[in-house]
Amino acid sequence: MSKGTLYIVSAPSGAGKSSLINALLETNPIYDMKVSVSHTTRGMRPGEEHGVHYNFVSVEEFQELVEQGAFLEHAEVFGNYYGTSRPWIEQQLNKGIDVFLDIDWQGARQIRKQMPQAKSLFILPPSKEELERRLNARGQDSDAVIARRMQEARSEISHYNEYDYVIVNDDFDVALMDFKAIIRAERLKQDKQAAKYNSMLNALLAEQ
Ligand code: GDP
Ligand code: ADP
Ligand code: 5GP
Repeated sequence: MSKGTLYIVSAPSGAGKSSLINALLETNPIYDMKVSVSHTTRGMRPGEEHGVHYNFVSVEEFQELVEQGAFLEHAEVFGNYYGTSRPWIEQQLNKGIDVFLDIDWQGARQIRKQMPQAKSLFILPPSKEELERRLNARGQDSDAVIARRMQEARSEISHYNEYDYVIVNDDFDVALMDFKAIIRAERLKQDKQAAKYNSMLNALLAEQ
C-alpha cells in the first residue's frame, strides 16, 4: 500500500490558504485527502467549531501536550500557540491518505526536518492591497488584528523561497487548478505508481 503524501501549505493570512484547501477537499473523494486539524490557544471565531477548524485548548492544556511530545511541530503565531498532532498524521499517511497542513513558515521548517519527504507549497496574494481587501472582506478579525496580520505578511512572504511550489492566488479557479496539478503530479511519481500498481507491474514484467 503506498503511503500518503504530507503537504505543507503556507501563506500570509488572507492569501486564500483555507479557501483553496477547502475547495480542493470538496471536489475530491474525501477518503484519500484530509486536512490536519491543529490545536490552538486562540479564541474561537464566529462559525468555528471545536474539532473541525481547530482543537481549541487552554495554554495549560497546550503546554501539557508539548511535554507529552504530542506535536510534530508547534509555534507561536500572532501571540497564540498552534500545534500539529503527530499520531493523527502518522495514522493517516500510513493509510495512504494525503494530509494537508495549514501552517506558518516556522512550522514548515520543523516539519521538513522531521519529514523530509513532505512537499511544501506557498500561496501568494497578487498584491498588498488585495491581501488587505481580503482580510477585511472575510469580516472575522478586528481592525487591530488585521493591521497586525498585514505587518506579519511581509515576514511570512519573505520565506517563500524555502518552499517546493509557489501558487499565486489571483484568479481563484486558476490557483485551484495549479494546486490540483501539483497533487496530481506528485501522485504520478515513479515510487508512488510502483506501489499502487505493484501487481500490474509484476504481471507486465513476468517472463513468458
Ligand atoms: P489564517 O491565516 O486566516 O488561515 O489563520 P489561522 O488562524 O487559521 O492560522 C494562523 C497561522 O497559524 C497561520 O500562519 C497558519 O499557517 C499557522 N498555523 C495553523 N496551524 C498551524 C500548525 O498546526 N502549526 C503551525 N506551525 N502553524 C500553524
Ligand atoms: P487564509 O486561510 O490564507 O487566511 P482565506 O482562505 O480565509 O485565507 O481567504 C481570505 C479571504 O479572501 C476570504 O474571504 C476568501 O473568500 C477570499 N479569497 C480567497 N481567494 C480569493 C481570490 N482568488 N479572489 C478573491 N477573494 C479571495
Ligand atoms: P488563525 O488564527 O487565523 O486561524 O491562524 C493564524 C496563523 O496560524 C495562520 O497563518 C495559520 O497557518 C497558523 N497556524 C494554524 N495552525 C497552526 C499550527 O498548528 N502550527 C503552526 N505552526 N501554525 C499554525
